[in-house]
Amino acid sequence: MRTAMELAGFDERVAIVTGATGGIGRAVMKSLHDAGAVVAALDRDAAACAALAREIGAGAHGYGLDLRRADDIDPVVDRVERDLGPIACLVNVAGVLVAAPALETDAAAWDAMFDVNARGAFLVSRAVARRMLPRRQGGIVTVASNAAGVPRHGMAAYAASKAAAVMITRSLGLELGRHGIRCNVVAPGSTRTAMLSALWRDPSDEAQVIAGSLETFKPGIPLGRIGEPQDVANAVLFLLSDQAAHVTMAVVAVDGGAAQT
Ligand code: NAD
Repeated sequence: MRTAMELAGFDERVAIVTGATGGIGRAVMKSLHDAGAVVAALDRDAAACAALAREIGAGAHGYGLDLRRADDIDPVVDRVERDLGPIACLVNVAGVLVAAPALETDAAAWDAMFDVNARGAFLVSRAVARRMLPRRQGGIVTVASNAAGVPRHGMAAYAASKAAAVMITRSLGLELGRHGIRCNVVAPGSTRTAMLSALWRDPSDEAQVIAGSLETFKPGIPLGRIGEPQDVANAVLFLLSDQAAHVTMAVVAVDGGAAQT
């Protein structure tokens, strides 16, 4: 009988994760490694990537990559393939959030978010998918946000950048499906990481996010809690696994139902 890990199909496959040293990225790295993948952490800080790889252990590797530097992307992807072998899975996790009312969002904040959340995800996906194409096999998952589908105060540019990332990923899924490459999106809601706590002014904010508030006109999170990075990683792993062999261009919300209300 085959084990669940064997059924998932990660054994020895090479997976790369951008934004790997952040809250969600770390959970994705560890889960892929636990499932048997050879994992590469890509993030701005090369030393932090190397430290994460050491923490995870054999089969984990670190590479510095600032996604704003478009010319650096291809060489890093090349290096990963030379060091580790053909990339089978890509997870776009890197993201930037600069929260501000729409009328107070300047061009620099807009660019900061679009350069990483939309253009960065596109350029890495393109670099990896070009290499996957002749092999007729591969999985790409982009971690976007439930903000891509629901207007929220202070999130106009962030939400727009995430909506772009969703559409880029689904469009790649359309064009690459006949080449055996599946492209899906995970759309987290509020998830317990540094990015979320940076938004909160005081501890009562968590209760307000769960219960909803007049300011956001939202009834909150139906499942009654903030998400954990592992909740997001679990969905990413499913979408990359062989058990999702007939799933592409999907958007899986991992937000306790928040965007449905
Ligand atoms: P985080 O701030 O802990 O992690 C973000 C990571 O992206 C960091 O490691 C950062 O170094 C990396 N990054 C940023 N700019 C980069 C660049 N130019 N080049 C390379 N890497 C870069 O936040 P997180 O909560 O773990 O976020 C992960 C993803 O999940 C993001 O795309 C975020 O938008 C999305 N998300 C988070 C939440 C939440 O509530 N935490 C909700 C919805 C979506």
